[in-house]
Amino acid sequence: MSLLVVGSVAFDAIETPLGKVDRTLGGAASYFALAASHFTPVRIVAVVGEDFTKKDEAIFRGRKINLDGVEHAVGKSFFWSGRYSMNMNERTTLATELNVFSNFRPTLPDRYRDSEFVFLGNIDPTLQRSVLQQMRRKPKVAALDTMNYWISGTPDALKEALKDIHILMINDDETRQLTGEHNLLRAAKAIFKMGPRTLVIKRGEHGALMVHDKFIFSVPAFPLEEVKDPTGAGDSFAGGFMGYLSSVGKINEKTLRSAMVYGSVVGSFTVESFGVKRLAGVKRSEIAARARRFSKLTAFTL
Ligand code: AMP
Repeated sequence: MSLLVVGSVAFDAIETPLGKVDRTLGGAASYFALAASHFTPVRIVAVVGEDFTKKDEAIFRGRKINLDGVEHAVGKSFFWSGRYSMNMNERTTLATELNVFSNFRPTLPDRYRDSEFVFLGNIDPTLQRSVLQQMRRKPKVAALDTMNYWISGTPDALKEALKDIHILMINDDETRQLTGEHNLLRAAKAIFKMGPRTLVIKRGEHGALMVHDKFIFSVPAFPLEEVKDPTGAGDSFAGGFMGYLSSVGKINEKTLRSAMVYGSVVGSFTVESFGVKRLAGVKRSEIAARARRFSKLTAFTL
């Protein structure tokens, strides 16, 4: 089935205890699309500047990612720079240069308007809503990511956008901030009243928790000996999750649980290199092998 993502395509400068890169392809939509493309074709709606070259484009084109929805604007692409703490659990944003992203008004090419699976990456909630309004019919699954900036800055627009969302994918701090509830299960109940019936809480090195109104499911992060750069892990998780769901086309408890595992598996490849390198190059057989190891890692009998 068709999967659409809207969000940032960026260049990132990243510093972690294990190294540093000055400028590498990044952005939430890039990580999401590359992750999802291991399961299903993907359509991207984003904006890039004149610094986005054919070489950057080739990273997507090599992987069943359609770029008809990527607008080329005059100016520079979105640029983000961040530094991680020694234990990599905290990240300080050093620079956010919106550049062409500041005038981004997502416009869906006509043939994108029938997408059955839609992921609204972390952008202005009014724009997220405008994407759903451009669809010819309601998507089978609409998922949304957001951040503290929008939760505190434009709460009403965010609540309006959430009304038509099936799955909200945010981290634990954002869950608490959005609902004012410290307890995540109570927070999930508050979120169910806003629209989504499924909440996926991304918890970094602690994995992810899914709270559905009928069941709860938890996955760990895949244990790795070396994490080089956590950037994009959350977006890759979302891409693996939605890519898998879109490839099976059916939504039920079993497929949602598997989607959580594939999200975690794909995210674990992203953090093994700086930028999108490992994620873009990982083989389907490596994903399958890690998913099997995941199953062993979490299996037990009572
Ligand atoms: P993650 O580590 O999953 O939170 O994703 C990090 C990616 O998000 C980086 O590649 C950044 O380019 C991108 N990013 C950072 N800040 C923003 C923002 N305010 N809006 C959209 N994308 C962002």
